[in-house]
Amino acid sequence: MIIKSPEEEQGIKEAAKLVSKTLAHLAQLIKPGITGDQLDKAAFEFITDHGAIPAFKGYKGFPASICLSLDHEVVHGIPTRNKVIKENMLVSVDVGVILNGFVGDCAYTFIVGENVDPLKLAVAQTTYEALQRGISNAVSGNRIGDIGFAIEDFVEREKGFYVVRDLVGHGVGKSLHEDPQVPNYGRRGHGKTLKEGLVIAIEPMVNAGTRAVRVLPDRWTIISADKSPSAHYEHMVIVRKGKPEVITSFEEIEKNFPVPFSKSN
Ligand code: MG
Repeated sequence: MIIKSPEEEQGIKEAAKLVSKTLAHLAQLIKPGITGDQLDKAAFEFITDHGAIPAFKGYKGFPASICLSLDHEVVHGIPTRNKVIKENMLVSVDVGVILNGFVGDCAYTFIVGENVDPLKLAVAQTTYEALQRGISNAVSGNRIGDIGFAIEDFVEREKGFYVVRDLVGHGVGKSLHEDPQVPNYGRRGHGKTLKEGLVIAIEPMVNAGTRAVRVLPDRWTIISADKSPSAHYEHMVIVRKGKPEVITSFEEIEKNFPVPFSKSN
């Protein structure tokens, strides 16, 4: 577990701010008819125009600046020209940037259109709230398992949906994926102890019908095994005493793209 210096923390916050702004920029473009490659190009230009590098492009060979995952796609979808945004879609966009050597990583599931399928809406709302539940446990003295437990308990026992277990949140800052892993399931009081200054990405992925996932033949796109709807939200958080510090923001996104459900906090 790497605890960052105040200077490093400042750099990470700048990267977190830029990745949030990138998602807010994309929020203005997400509407029926736009294609994956158009969104990817817009993200690439926005990131490089701000003096940063897209963190995902080339990462383990990933071919694009954003991951674009639609409906039953969970994460890691490739933003191709054949991927067209339509009404009634769950559009998950995950973006990473490297700014002055520091990484920002954030994801948001957009709910497109006015008459969205109630199941899709419920999955998105549950994931959104699950993220908040996880974040509220990112305080010093807690264990990694407390974060996962809070997410899993809410999603599975309270809402009856499924937490994806094959992919997890992670430490972040000097590289995209650092220790510790931050699973979206777990046992209360178990796992590594969270220390003040630890920077983690918390990113619940929730499927409506099963926790099982499959990888498509493109070798990137992860889908729910039963093709039920899936959602994904991700924030970067600094562990603090008593109250975590969330350093990415959905505020700008939601100015253009209001959340179609009531938020609990
Ligand atoms: Mg991440």
